Amino acid sequence: MNLLVVGSVALDSVETPYGMVDNALGGSAVYFSVSASYFTDVGVVAVIGLDFPEDHLNFLKSKRIDLRGLKRESGLTFHWKGRYSGDLNEAETIDTKLNVFEDFRPYIPEEYRESSFVFLANIDPELQLNVLEQVKRPKLTICDTMNFWIEGKLEQLKEIIKRVDILIINEGEVRQLSRETNLIKAYQKISSYGPKILVVKQGSYGALLFTPSSVFSAPAYPLEELSDPTGAGDCFAGGFVGYLAKSQDTTEDKLRKAVIYGSVMASFNVEDFSLGRLKTLTIDEIEKRFESFKKLTQF
Ligand code: AMP
Repeated sequence: MNLLVVGSVALDSVETPYGMVDNALGGSAVYFSVSASYFTDVGVVAVIGLDFPEDHLNFLKSKRIDLRGLKRESGLTFHWKGRYSGDLNEAETIDTKLNVFEDFRPYIPEEYRESSFVFLANIDPELQLNVLEQVKRPKLTICDTMNFWIEGKLEQLKEIIKRVDILIINEGEVRQLSRETNLIKAYQKISSYGPKILVVKQGSYGALLFTPSSVFSAPAYPLEELSDPTGAGDCFAGGFVGYLAKSQDTTEDKLRKAVIYGSVMASFNVEDFSLGRLKTLTIDEIEKRFESFKKLTQF
C-alpha cells in the first residue's frame, strides 16, 4: 500500500445558503481517500455501522480504494450535522453523534503496515499515536487535527505532532496551537515541537506552505458558484499527500506543486454537496485546473 489514511467515515447532514443534504456520504477519511485516489493507491482504516449504505461502499470501490481496513460494527455510523452561513469559511457544528466511532480502536491490517505514506486525519490524538505505533518506518507521516483536540488533549496532541513530518491545519488552529498570532512565529514554534513542514489552510483565501527554507503561498481557485465547503480541507490534504505519494519525493518543488494539487481538489469538491463533484471528476479536468492555477499566479 502506498498511502494509508485513518479517519472518519460519516453520514453528514449539512446546510449551506445554497441547499442542504441529509445523511449524505462524508467523513475525513472518505474525502481524503477519494481525492488522493486520483494520484495513487489508497487504503482506509475506519469504522462504519450497520446503516452504512452499500451504494457508498460501491462508490469507494469504483475509485479503487482499498477497504480491507474498513470495519463494520453493530450500531450506527458516525453522524455529523453542520451548517455554514456567511462567507462559508467556518462550519458550525450542530450535532456530532460518535455512534460506532466511540469505541473505534484503529487496527492496521498486516498488508497496510508497510505503507510508505501515512495520513492521520482529524481523530483523537491518542488514536493517531496508536496508528503510528503499528506502522513500520513510513517514508512520510502527515497529520491533521482540530480545535476540539487542541482544547481537550493538548499533551497527547503534542506527542503526535512531535513524531510527524508534516502538519496540515487551519489558520485559526495554528494560532491556537502555537499561541502566536504571527504565522511566521507560529511556524517557528510548531517546527520546534517536531514537524519541519507546516501547511496552513486558509479556507477561501488559499493555503500557505512553510518549510525550513521558504514560504509559499497559493490562492484558492476563484469560483463563480460554490455549494458546500464540507470536506474541502480533507480534499486539499488528499491532493497534497496523494501527489507527494505519487512522486515519491518531498523536494521543495514537489511540495509546492502538491499545494496546488491540494487546492485544485478542494476547489472541485466545494462545487457540489457531499462527494457529488468527485463522482464525475476526471483526471483531465484536474490537469486543466492545475494549468489555470499557473496562469492565475503568474506575473
Ligand atoms: P473538513 O470540512 O475537511 O474539515 O471535514 C469535514 C468532515 O469531517 C465531515 O464530513 C465530517 O463528517 C467530519 N467530521 C466532523 N467532525 C468530526 C470529528 N469530531 N471527528 C472526525 N470527523 C469529523
